[in-house]
Amino acid sequence: MFRKVVTEQYPKEKFPTAPRFHGRHQLNRWPDGLEKCIGCELCAWACPADAIYVEGAENSDQPTVDADGNTVQSGRFSPGERYGRVYQINYLRCILCGLCIEACPTRALTMTNEYELADDNRRDLIFEKSDLLAPLLPGMEQPPHPMLLGDDEQAYYRGEAATPVDASERPAASRAAQAPSEEAAQ
Ligand code: SF4
Ligand code: SF4
Repeated sequence: MFRKVVTEQYPKEKFPTAPRFHGRHQLNRWPDGLEKCIGCELCAWACPADAIYVEGAENSDQPTVDADGNTVQSGRFSPGERYGRVYQINYLRCILCGLCIEACPTRALTMTNEYELADDNRRDLIFEKSDLLAPLLPGMEQPPHPMLLGDDEQAYYRGEAATPVDASERPAASRAAQAPSEEAAQ
């Protein structure tokens, strides 16, 4: 009460948060760049503020046929059967409680220390999957692509994925499955 008041010079001076501070979410990747999210929606069901919207879709290593008999090219975005085709978090609703990351079975969803989430319009506070996905690190490849297994599947899940190869060196079937789905990722 009798101590001198300290005025923090934010935003000119920014202090680091506590290491476990709950900030903006992140959708994580496997070491080959595939997404950890399997589109299960458990995070959305766990959210008390109804701030998460997820739509899952099937991964496919082969072109498939739609109801009209047309060949639909698809691809692999995650190692599982499904991936999160649409993923949104509404930061107008989110209370940063962290229940969603506790519910996630694959550790696809975690929270960063980023806290600057203010904006001057409502639309930009609904973050899309592209806003939330972790950046591609060296050695990662932009999905869709086949799982880059190391020695075997267990090695993959230990984080020992194989090194990405040039797309032109892949078998033709896997290239066909990959190309058109890049639109779906946008
Ligand atoms: S942090 Fe809490 S409020 Fe925000 S999306 Fe997750 S569960 Fe919902
Ligand atoms: S982030 Fe986790 S809980 Fe949410 S849909 Fe993806 S895998 Fe499921």
